Amino acid sequence: MSKALIIGAGGVAGVVIHKCCQNSEVFTEICIASRTKSKCDKFKDELQNKTTTKITTAQVDADNVPELVALINEYKPDIVINVALPYQDLHIMDACLETGVDYLDTANYEPEDTAKFEYKWQWDYKERFEKAGITAVLGCGFDPGVTGVFSAYAQKHYFDEINYIDILDCNGGDHGYPFATNFNPEINIREVSAKGSYIEDGKWVETEPMEIKRTYNFDQVGEKDMYLLHHEELESLAINIKGIKRIRFFMTFGQSYLTHLKCLENVGMTSIEPIEYEGKSIVPLQFLKAVLPDPSTLGPRTVGKTNIGCIFQGKKDGKPVNYYLYNVCDHQECYKEVGSQAISYTTGVPAMIGASMVLTGKWKKPGVYNVEEFNPDPFMDELNKWGLPWTENFEPVLVD
Ligand code: NDP
Repeated sequence: MSKALIIGAGGVAGVVIHKCCQNSEVFTEICIASRTKSKCDKFKDELQNKTTTKITTAQVDADNVPELVALINEYKPDIVINVALPYQDLHIMDACLETGVDYLDTANYEPEDTAKFEYKWQWDYKERFEKAGITAVLGCGFDPGVTGVFSAYAQKHYFDEINYIDILDCNGGDHGYPFATNFNPEINIREVSAKGSYIEDGKWVETEPMEIKRTYNFDQVGEKDMYLLHHEELESLAINIKGIKRIRFFMTFGQSYLTHLKCLENVGMTSIEPIEYEGKSIVPLQFLKAVLPDPSTLGPRTVGKTNIGCIFQGKKDGKPVNYYLYNVCDHQECYKEVGSQAISYTTGVPAMIGASMVLTGKWKKPGVYNVEEFNPDPFMDELNKWGLPWTENFEPVLVD
């Protein structure tokens, strides 16, 4: 018997909402609250007659802490699932602290005016959450999220020490547009146009954007070019996994995406510096978002599969061990099930599972934690149950 307050009504939220409604035993009631209430009502109308989960909706500006506190005090949820944007993380955490409610998100805080995402702002809340006796689970989507659970599982079952991790995120899907992003365009473009980086011997090594390229043959997808990016889970995994010498993150991109991105960058459209236009201040990247296809409309058009996972290299009983753990997800199957493509699906399912872990007491521990700091086993079981089954390979091809 528990109540979840879901903040946001975009692509990822849609999947979280569908999945909570499938898992009515844990989520007996949900409230969908977002900036645009009509989007919340649309989900309620679609699902209310197909689930025993009781659905209510509300309008909220998640940047306004008193408004959030009033909503939480009125609804009295057992957990707040933040699937709005990373800019809202700290405001929602402040509201959870004030009301004594557990918290979960899928992306770490970044200030709106600097595309710099790191955990320090949220880790700073650790003591206050401990004192308040409430749990915050950070980054519980796929990457970050499942990649952390995979790392904890590898560490627990197969390694004494893990020396190398390569996270490989492959989207073999095709939406038929020359250029579109699979999740919020503003957040996506900020991520891929930033400098790349990885951790080696305890230090960050910075690269130019898209400087390091590799090719990998992905199970059920085939051969793809992939590029080294900075990614938020590198920071927490380098601390929480024992023996790390190097950890990298690679994402696949097609040539059409890269050519368009380069062109948009060259003409200044990806900039987050405000400019004056007809007497109004506008941010070019936000304007670009307004003209690009809305990611939540890509579902019906996207065909193909994603393959996301981690290759681990390390030692067990003094012997070298290589281990690859990954999930393959089909865009069209996701669309048939919940009306979204696989990028939203692979993010929303883990967020629902993470919230259920907290609500059922399996991941309840006061403080602020990344997912790899919890017991991975019950989460791994739930991945198989809720649509993201995983595959193990003990002889993977390694990335040089
Ligand atoms: P969308 O842009 O589709 O949805 C964001 C939602 O948040 C919208 O409904 C928006 O409202 C709402 N929102 C924005 N600002 C506010 C505010 N101030 N108050 C209330 N509501 C607000 O994004 P996605 O669903 O694609 O992404 C959601 C999150 O998931 C992001 O943080 C993203 O970084 C993360 N993510 C994580 C991944 C992972 O694997 N860990 C992968 C992909 C995404 P409105 O509808 O009015 O615009």
